[in-house]
Formats: sequence, structure tokens, C-alpha cells
Amino acid sequence: MSSPEKQLSTTPPQQQQLEQPVLSEEKKAELCRQCDEYKSWMMKYSPTVLFMFDQIKNAGGYVSPNKITCEICPDPKLGGFHAEMGIQLCANYIPDKWVLNDTLSHELVHWYDNTRFKVDWMDLRHHACSEIRAASLSGECAIMTEFKKNAGMMKISKGHQRCVKRRAALSVVGHPKCKDMDHANQIVDEVFRSCFNDTRPFEMIYS
Ligand SMILES: [Zn+2]
Repeated sequence: MSSPEKQLSTTPPQQQQLEQPVLSEEKKAELCRQCDEYKSWMMKYSPTVLFMFDQIKNAGGYVSPNKITCEICPDPKLGGFHAEMGIQLCANYIPDKWVLNDTLSHELVHWYDNTRFKVDWMDLRHHACSEIRAASLSGECAIMTEFKKNAGMMKISKGHQRCVKRRAALSVVGHPKCKDMDHANQIVDEVFRSCFNDTRPFEMIYS
């Protein structure tokens, strides 16, 4: 489940995290149970998650609840998306339900892209494009606060753009065809303008 070929798209942790302590089986089970609880709550009440479910449906897809799974992840990351296997949520790296909300929303943007745009995940530029959109639209760069304030419209700040570029590059560097961080930054820069401006299925204005 965690080999790079099978898990092309991942969400990096919010801060640099230290090596995890070895977890007992009881602790792992407890973390997964907690993650499942947060997940069920978000699938019922999160406006972003429910909005994305609808949009994926409108694009001709369907998010089966059993394709969103809480797992113990060996590498530090919040989650992942795979076109066949679905969404992985990393129970041992997600600290609370708000981070789970952002992570799930991020992976659902990949799901939407995969349904609507027929993404070639082995193509670095396609992958970078979806990471830019996922980082920008998911709320992990704190845009959703603005989104709600402006009743369906988004305001964009320079800080938001920097956050999106940085986090997209951190995801792209994990792609098997990406050489290093410089290469990741370069690919993200190349596609940034057009992918960042494509906010479907959300609406947006510039401030
Ligand atoms: Zn991603």
C-alpha cells in the first residue's frame, strides 16, 4: 500500500515530524478507531467533504465509503490517493479531526481530477497540477476561512500561493520520476499559473 508505485499521490505532514516511536498493537488500534470516528463525522458534517462528494458524482464518479481507509503509515505523511484503491488516511500522523478534514478534502480533489480530467499520474506535470489544486482548494493552506467569509468566493493572498507551491513540491518530490527537491520546485513553477487558476469545482475571485 505504501510503495511509491502504488501510492503516487501523498499529502506531506504539516510540520517536519520526528521519527515516530514504535507503537504497540493496542495503540495502533486506538489510533485507527479514533481516525475512523473523525472520518465518519466529516463524511456527515464537513461542508467541503460533502461538496466534493457531490461534485465527483456530477463528474460521473462515485466515492465509496469503504475506499476511504484509516491506516498506520510507515512514512511521515497525512494521506494518499490511488486511482484504483482510493484514499488512505494516516491515523498515526493525523493529530485531530480538522487536519483529517483538510487531508480528506485534499485527496478528494485528486479523486475529482481523476474522474473529470483523466489524469495520467505517471506524468510529472499532471501530478504536479493536481497537487497544486489539492493544496490550494483543500484548506490546508487555510483558504477555507476566507472561502466561508466570502460566501462562495475566495480571496487569494501571496502567503497562500507560497504555501501551495511549497506543499505541492513536497508531494511531487515523492513521485518516482522526480529527481530531487529542485526538480520538484521547477515542475511546480512550470505548471503553477494555469493549475492554480483552475479552481473547479469551486468559484473564485481575486482580491
Ligand atoms: Zn496530494
